[in-house]
Amino acid sequence: MKLVGIAKMAAESPSLQAKNRVEYFDMPARTFLARCYSERVPFRWMINPYRGCEFGCKYCYARYAHEFMELRDPLDFERRIFIKHFDTDAFLKELAKLPLGERIAIGTATDPYQPAERRYGITRSILEAFARTAGYRLGITTKSQLVARDAELLKEVSRRHFVTISMTVTTIDRELAREIEPMAPRPDLRLSAVRALSRHGVRATVFCAPILPLLTDTDASLDAVAKAARAAGARGFGGNVVFLKPCAWQVFLPFLEQNYPLLVRRYRERFDRSAYLRGDYPQRIAERVARIRRRYGFEERFYEQQEPELWPRDPQLTLF
Ligand code: SF4
Repeated sequence: MKLVGIAKMAAESPSLQAKNRVEYFDMPARTFLARCYSERVPFRWMINPYRGCEFGCKYCYARYAHEFMELRDPLDFERRIFIKHFDTDAFLKELAKLPLGERIAIGTATDPYQPAERRYGITRSILEAFARTAGYRLGITTKSQLVARDAELLKEVSRRHFVTISMTVTTIDRELAREIEPMAPRPDLRLSAVRALSRHGVRATVFCAPILPLLTDTDASLDAVAKAARAAGARGFGGNVVFLKPCAWQVFLPFLEQNYPLLVRRYRERFDRSAYLRGDYPQRIAERVARIRRRYGFEERFYEQQEPELWPRDPQLTLF
């Protein structure tokens, strides 16, 4: 088969380093900002500093991203990590074309603070570029305490842009977390990063997502995450029910069969035909999350943050 586009680039990417289970590849990047057309999310632009993610969460929906590169084994996503070249000047030119006030999500199909970041620092370079501009709404999603390394830099970026760090904590049960997110940092380490960011005045929230039916969806389980998030200084709390597209289902189902065989039938009834749960279950969970949010006095979901100190004085921005 003749490979084209991103698949050709992936096939030609030289290997940089191999660890026991992970290999890193060098990959040119034509652009860093990607347009998001989904109606389900609040942002219009995405930045993914890496392709693939070593954390290997069993429910990860982002495995599809490797299929574009003709890497069809869903486990390639966690074993073949592509490091995108970052060019600050080219990125700033790209960014300058975006209207001020746009929402940009960093880490929608990869974790921007996965282990590769320690070595390659692409996420940090992106933040350094943002520290030279002002006027965007940035959201960073991660499961890693490594984000605390950039607390000072994030504080500076927060003077210029609206910034929210969304730490994903699906459960505070360490054993369960190790099963479903085998290579991701422990929940208590993630929460320690929330504490460090909060101390620096960086807005951090905790997102309990995905919520897994019959595994992490009880009031007690969600409440425990919220309570720990509050103690760590998180400003917001939220959560969404899992969806399992084919790339995730191929990994999640064998995981259930091996670890939770009694749940297989219930999951198959719901996810064999559709990636999304329907009926009143998602609604009940959304209400449960909202109740817990109120219980601990977290900010409301669409809380309007205080304007950053160096937010540009552009009359156009009143439109947002
Ligand atoms: S941290 Fe996010 S991107 Fe990485 S494997 Fe887990 S769900 Fe996927």
